[in-house]
Order: sequence, then C-alpha cells, then structure tokens
Amino acid sequence: MATGKNKDVNYIILDLEWNQCPYGKKREDPKLPFEIIEIGAVKLDASFREIGTFHETIRPVLYRRLHYMTRSVIHMTETDFEGKRTFPYVFADFLLWCGPCPVFCTWGPGDLTELQRNVRWHIDHGNLTGRWPFPFPFFYRDVQKIFSYAHEDGKKRRSLEWAVEYLMMDKTEEFHDAFSDARYTAKILQKLPPEDIRLYSSIDTYHTPEKRSEEILVRYNGYTKYISKAFEQREALMKDRVITSTRCLMCDQKIHRTIRWFSDNGRNYLCIAQCPEHGLFRSKIRVRQNAEGGWYVVKTTRKATLEDVEAVKKKQETLRHRRHVHRNS
Ligand SMILES: [Zn+2]
Repeated sequence: MATGKNKDVNYIILDLEWNQCPYGKKREDPKLPFEIIEIGAVKLDASFREIGTFHETIRPVLYRRLHYMTRSVIHMTETDFEGKRTFPYVFADFLLWCGPCPVFCTWGPGDLTELQRNVRWHIDHGNLTGRWPFPFPFFYRDVQKIFSYAHEDGKKRRSLEWAVEYLMMDKTEEFHDAFSDARYTAKILQKLPPEDIRLYSSIDTYHTPEKRSEEILVRYNGYTKYISKAFEQREALMKDRVITSTRCLMCDQKIHRTIRWFSDNGRNYLCIAQCPEHGLFRSKIRVRQNAEGGWYVVKTTRKATLEDVEAVKKKQETLRHRRHVHRNS
C-alpha cells in the first residue's frame, strides 16, 4: 500500500437506525424494506485518532409511522422527526463530511447494504442525482469480525455490548442509538491491533460482479476469496468451470480435486484439492442471491491439514448415509 495515499485515509465508523413498514411485510416496498432514520458516525485519521463526528436524525418519507419494533428499540416517536431533513439532504452532507478516501467500518455486515439500498431507492425516485457514490469492489472493515479474529476464534459474532464489556470499557451511553453505537464501535476499533484492521477487509456484496472481467479475487493471509458474477439460474453455478475450478494458494496453478464438490445443505459446497508441490487445499463455495435476485457464489480456499481432509470425508460419508436412509424409508 502506498504510504503517501495512506495518510489521506479516513476511517468512517458508521451506525444506522432504520424503520420498517408499520403495517407488515405485505404492504412494504420490496425495494426499501428498511428506511434509514438516523446516521451516526465517527471519523478517525490514519493513526486512529478521532477527528470528527456526524449525527443526524432523518425524517422518513416512505414509512412515516414507526414500526412498533423500531419504537421500542430506539426510544423515539413520530414527533422526534418533525422538522428534520430527509435522507437525500442528510446523505449529501454525510458524503462530503466523509472526505475523499473513506474506509467504512461497521459492527457486522448489514449497515452498508442498507445504506446503498436507500441511496438506490432515492436515485430511482429522482430525489438524488449524480454518480454512484461507492467504489467497486466495495471494501470495508467489519469491526465485529476483526474483534473476533483479535480476541476469539474469528468465527463467533458478538453483540456490541458484549465486546464493550469484554474490553472493560465504560458503559456511559445507551446502546441502540446510532451515534453512541458508532462511538462504541470506534473505541473498540482503536483497541484492535492495527495490523488486523489492515489485514481483515470485508467486501460488501450489494453490488456483485456483472461480468467475468469484474469478478473479484482477493488474497488474504492464509486464504483467498473469490466472488463470481451473478447468474439468472441457480443451476448454472455449479456447471460453471471458473466457479468450480480449484487453484493452489501458492503457485496459482489449477489443481486436481481429490474429493469432488459435494453439498451439505444445497447452499454450501466443499471440496479438497491437491497441488503436487504445495499440498492439500480445502475450498468452500457459498451460494448467495444478490439484490436483483441473481445467483452468485463466494468461494474461499485455504490450506488443509490431513485432519481437515478427514473431517471433509466424514461429512461426505454422513451425508451419503443419510441419503441412503432416506431412500429406504
Ligand atoms: Zn502449488
């Protein structure tokens, strides 16, 4: 990473609160199930020093009444939104405030997707103009995930409050307020190893690759992540040679699968492949659906031990056995 550019980086720790249709799912706009009603954010410089804050309540235009869940979580009523600005105005100011090189950081993966969905909805309704304001691929930092890598097994996902208690931080502010949650998240980020923050980037998949040349392959420390373009038919995924190909993490050669792709639940696929020079690798495919209903995969590949291979074999045998039992019952 170029150091000159790095100095301009701002970490934008973001938290949103949203409202949903108060009259139930049947009457919601499927293009905007969650309407943002509050943005809270803290800005840190490249050395993780706090250099600014942003906080604004947003008057909803689609769901003007609050859903009872929203009401109970955020402790606001309709009168709190009187005289407040609507999303397009607040978002324009927020973007300016973020600066030219924002690295967005959130607790968990949901907020940036909802932010983009709100931006898309307001563009489609003529309330927002200009070019799409987010990059592609959209890298961000999931502080919940980095916290797990730094303090737990990298897999567990804890609540913000849990992490605050774990790190023995003061609980001076309420949770579930966009600004105080952003503040807590920023304080947690400041306590995480900078190396982990640099290393563990996440990719937002609100926009998935549209064509082969846009497909994403990222090398992390010890594994690779590939995000395919989207297909109209789910069945096309596992017939696609690029999706099912397996490559060595070290030499990038196509390698032979010693345990062929098999599915445990129809959503995930596993395989083991072997490089004659660099040994065994375990690949996993997760099938996902994007905002437009297209099907794509996220494939991760990591080095495998003999125990990993045994575990995969065992899983496959258990599944075979289960299917066999089903056929005979
Ligand atoms: Zn190799």
